[in-house]
Amino acid sequence: MPLFNKITIIGIGLIGSSLARVIKRDNLAQSLGCFDANPQYMQKALELGIVDEIYSDVTDSVKNADLIVLATPVGAYGEIVKKIAPFLSPQTIITDVGSVKQYTIKEIEANLPTDIDISVVPGHPVAGTEKSGPEAGFATLFDGRWFIITPYERSTESAVNKISELWSHAQMRVDIMTPEHHDKVMAAVSHLPHLIAFSIVGTVADLEGYEQKEIIKYSASGVRDSTRISGSDPTMWRDIFLNNEDTILELIQRFVEDLIALERNIRWNEGDKLFDLFSRTRKIRTEVVEAKQDQPETEKKLLSELKPLD
Ligand code: NAP
Repeated sequence: MPLFNKITIIGIGLIGSSLARVIKRDNLAQSLGCFDANPQYMQKALELGIVDEIYSDVTDSVKNADLIVLATPVGAYGEIVKKIAPFLSPQTIITDVGSVKQYTIKEIEANLPTDIDISVVPGHPVAGTEKSGPEAGFATLFDGRWFIITPYERSTESAVNKISELWSHAQMRVDIMTPEHHDKVMAAVSHLPHLIAFSIVGTVADLEGYEQKEIIKYSASGVRDSTRISGSDPTMWRDIFLNNEDTILELIQRFVEDLIALERNIRWNEGDKLFDLFSRTRKIRTEVVEAKQDQPETEKKLLSELKPLD
């Protein structure tokens, strides 16, 4: 028996379409529908055969669904939940994939009537690429990565178990933590590095006295790796920074202090301090590789698409 009767994915972009591919591959739903603000994306998803049904109205898409997956930028959650709330079936589970959790729970709760028998299981697949849209998705995107669930009062145990099972099919390992802890950890491992990459590429691009074409030509010497991260979706990242504001502002302050310390080390010729820091950061890189968290997504996608030779 499939895990769900009808699943509806709202937002069939990179993450939504990758999950759709897993659902189809492992036959996890009797039927899989989607709604997206972009009709061309929905049409493409249908052509790719990764969904069974598309809808021109979000309220139609959720009728009779026993699982609804919110996979749009988090800034759209409030408006979507407000529209779909009157059309939900009893016992429906709502889950999501948003990269910040306190804000998303707040938005869902503000728009879901308290007396309605719906379980909500907030989640975040810690996997992704800088690409967007249904063609950028692939089923192996999640392999070996972590799926974080941040339960709250509305997350029943049985719903949490079903969502864990869903993401286990995507080869993800499941972790459970509070929404506050999630946002703090993600601010450090994801939001701050993204902000710094946006800043590095912005600074390099705006430097006076440098030819833009030389910056691109010699980018492999360093800035190229930051451009991968800074090429991420602008809407998604705007929503993340505006909705994890306090934690990220605290980390920016800390980063600026550390950067000024580095500036001082260079100015005062403190090579031993630079060497110590670079040795520590090199060790962290080794640990990331050993934890198998380093394989570039695009490389994995290419490998997964390779056809065996006859
Ligand atoms: P994406 O590829 O841009 O897909 C998002 C889709 O949602 C787009 O097709 C967008 O359409 C659509 N959309 C926007 N507003 C909508 C609305 N009101 N109703 C219906 N559809 C709407 O983005 P993504 O990378 O998959 O990210 C989706 C979610 O996953 C975000 O919440 C993000 O925080 C989370 N996430 C992303 C990553 C990552 O690395 N990308 C990793 C983990 C979690 P338009 O393009 O027309 O706006």
